[in-house]
Order: sequence, then structure tokens, then C-alpha cells
Amino acid sequence: MTVGRTTAVALLGLDGALVEVEAGLGTQTPGFKLIGLPDSALREAEHRVRAGILNSGLEFPIRHVTVNLSPAELPKQGAGFDLAIAVATLVADGTIPVESARRTAHIGELALDGRIRPIRGILPAVLAAARAGVEQVVVPSANEAEASLVPGIRVMGAPSLREVAIRLGAELDSVPVEPIEATVMPVVESDPGDLSDVVGNRDAIDALVVAAAGGHHVFMVGAPGAGKTMLASRLPGILPPLDEAAALEVASMRSLSGVEVGSDLTTRPPFEAPHHHATASAMIGGGSRVIRPGAAARASSGVLFLDEAPEFQTSVLDSLRQPLESGRISVERASAVAHFPARFQLVLAANPCPCGNADSRDQRCDCPPMKRVNYLKKLSGPLLDRVDIRLRVPRVTAAQLRTQSTMPYTSSADARQRVVAARSIAHHRWRETPWQRNSQVPGSVLRSERYRLPHAVSDPLDRALEKGLISMRGYDRTLRVAWTLADLDGQDSPGLTHVGGALRLRRGDA
Ligand SMILES: [Zn+2]
Repeated sequence: MTVGRTTAVALLGLDGALVEVEAGLGTQTPGFKLIGLPDSALREAEHRVRAGILNSGLEFPIRHVTVNLSPAELPKQGAGFDLAIAVATLVADGTIPVESARRTAHIGELALDGRIRPIRGILPAVLAAARAGVEQVVVPSANEAEASLVPGIRVMGAPSLREVAIRLGAELDSVPVEPIEATVMPVVESDPGDLSDVVGNRDAIDALVVAAAGGHHVFMVGAPGAGKTMLASRLPGILPPLDEAAALEVASMRSLSGVEVGSDLTTRPPFEAPHHHATASAMIGGGSRVIRPGAAARASSGVLFLDEAPEFQTSVLDSLRQPLESGRISVERASAVAHFPARFQLVLAANPCPCGNADSRDQRCDCPPMKRVNYLKKLSGPLLDRVDIRLRVPRVTAAQLRTQSTMPYTSSADARQRVVAARSIAHHRWRETPWQRNSQVPGSVLRSERYRLPHAVSDPLDRALEKGLISMRGYDRTLRVAWTLADLDGQDSPGLTHVGGALRLRRGDA
């Protein structure tokens, strides 16, 4: 039996693995058999590969073709294996020289006319190939720019199977074709704005800087129009820029979601703001054929903003518990489990009541008392336990605007500088622990002998606890924030002002 071999990449979630694609030509009745745990889309490869080869002006072997994808136990999703299957088949019948195909990975779906269709997730696929030591990869033309973002691997974009065969050494004449373009959603990078645009709300700006410095999740309560969205959308701009690994991960998640990645890696942390009608699948990921990441995974290394958080379905809010605990999302399907990173900073926003006027002096709240009480309760429990900073964002009044200085309070660039400095202090302090940011440190550690604050410093907090003004969890949250305030001040450990400041930052806390 003559056998042709090449390499493809199986993607599951963000994890990619090399797959050896073998095509053997047997002497039985002509036919085609695909083995090695293909899913339904992949099982249809026969038709695409046969038509693709014939319509490229090449011959499909009149033999029994057996294609084996190994390792067999690895789940294989989607149509991205077509190109490798076609190449292995053409190697087996002698059209393509053996050696050139072996050294190269092939990723792409075949159109019936022999052109190569772009696929989603080219970036994580090529990244996986590079990490596994593959030196050269052939990708669809439309995916070439995105694939080229991966360092350490040679990328060749090809418009058609015939062109791939020629580059691998087949002796054929080139037939120019129009490459198939990718259908991607453009990135909605509206101008994220600067903190210097925010008028009033200085306490909220301070809270945002503290949140960024310590990686603390935030809960904002305020009337519609108080500026909660404006504040939240400026949080990515004061976070440290992404390093290369994080930038590749963020871009990979976009690639899998079918969102435009572009030809430059962005170092700005992502901002995802799913609508309150979002399903659990839109939030944490899903999909019937290929498992795609949801908003929480796309927000990893950045910010997940839930505006009108109590309006979300309880099941959707609950689905965030696992990622908040572990920093990872696992999406289970009958055939496979896909994992995505989900180390996002959560910002929840809510109106004080369903009508939004409960806190207002000049507008009347018409909500029935029970409805008002139950509204914010929907968020209570495990979700809010992870939120260190809870603040009220009041609507700025005209009178306040008149008395306030017109000078901006702070710019995003200045705030980011303070955040980066504070984070590096925290990073140094926790260098021999599993944590990097104060928000990750358990209360028991902060209360342990090594980090316990002197009695005189923790006094206001201790008294609040004794009086029942805060719970034990609230005590720990305040401690975490106090450490971040000390880091922002460049102090070795929190003093009385930092504990006081941390207590003030939770004025909105019930
Ligand atoms: Zn109301």
C-alpha cells in the first residue's frame, strides 16, 4: 500500500494538538474511508476533498483511499482538516513529493472548486503548531495575516489546492484564482475614552484605580445616567498593557469567535459587555459543532462588564462562579470538553431599584417595596462574595458641576502609571506564593501572623466587626483593599489611613 503523510492541527477550545494525517491507497474496490474519530463536519470531508482535487485539474486516485487521523482518541472538529487530507492523498498517488509534505502542517477547508476557505481559530492552531516544533504551515490566503502573528514559524498563505501542490513540488502550471475572503465580524473598537473625560464622581475614579491596582472585582450601584458604563469602559485603559503571551491569547479567542484579529496584536486589555439577554452559552461558550468561547473567555486578561446585572438570568450569573473561582472555563459536550482561560476582572453595575430612582432626590421611585428589596438580592451570595469593592455612583448634579474645578481629576495614562507601580509592589510581595494580585489572596493569609496589621491600625475594622457593621467576609475584603491602597502609596504595609480608605470604599456595601 502506498501511503502519503502530512500534519494538521486539532483544536479543542484554545488547546491545539498535532494530528498526523495518513492516506493509503489500497487495491480494493475504489472508495474513500475516513478513520480516527472525525465529527460530522469532518466526515463530509470526502466530498469536499474529491471535488476539490478534481476541480483543481488533478486526478483523484481510482483506488481505495483510506485516510487515518491519529492519535485516534483526540476529538477532531470542523472542516479544517480538508487541506491536509487532500495533500496526503496527492502524496500517496505521487503528485506531490513525499518529503516536502511531511515537514509542513496544512490547515484549511476546501471549497468544491479547489480553492481554500479560511477557518476560524487559525491563530491558536498555528500557535499550537509552532509550539510543537513545526517549522512551516500552509494556511488559507485570507488567514495569512492572522497566522503571521505567531512568532517562530514560516507561514505560507495559499488560495487553492493546486497552488499548494505546486509549492510542495508538484510539476503543474499555476492557475491564478481569486482567493476566498474571510467573513469576520469587525472588532468594535470604538474610542474607549479617557478618565480625564469623566466629570465629577472622583470617589468612583479612585475606586476604579484601586480596582485596577489590586485586580479587585467591582460592584457599582447608581441611577441610570450616573456614568457607570463610562467608568467601567475606562478600566481597560488603566490596566497594564498585555504582554506578548496574553496578547496572543486574547487574539486567539477573537479568532475562535470569528471576530477580526487584524495584522497587529493589540496590547490593550479586552473589554466585553454582554447584554443582559445573553444566554449562558453566549457568556461562557458553547456551540453545537465546534465549541466557541463566550464573552467571559474573551474578557480574559481584561474586563467583563455586566450592566444592569440583576436583569441577567440567574443561571447566566451562576455560570460565572466556576470561572471566578478557578480562572478557567470548561465547556462540556458529549464528545469533548473544551477549556478556555477566564481570568477577567468583573465589573457589575446595577440601578438601585428596577425603575432606577430609589436613590434620587428629585424623581420618585414607583417600585413596590418588595420588588425594590428583592432587586439587588438577586446578586447576593457566591457572586458578590468575590467582589471586593462596592460603591455607590451618584448622579452628578448641576450644582456640583458649577462648584467643581474644570481641571480633569486624572488622565488614564497617569492612573495607569500608578497602577503598574502598585502591581509591581504586590507582585514582589507575593512572589513566593501562588498569587500575584491582592484580590487573589485569601483572608486567612492576610489575618495570619506574617501579614496581620498592628492592633492600632486594624482597630476601626475590628470595631466594625464587633458592632456587626461588617461580616467576616466583608472584613477580609476590606483588608485586601487596604493592602492595595498601601501599594498605591508605596508603603510596606497598610496604615490607619489605608484601612480608613478601604472602609470608605465600601460605603455602598450592605
Ligand atoms: Zn424604583
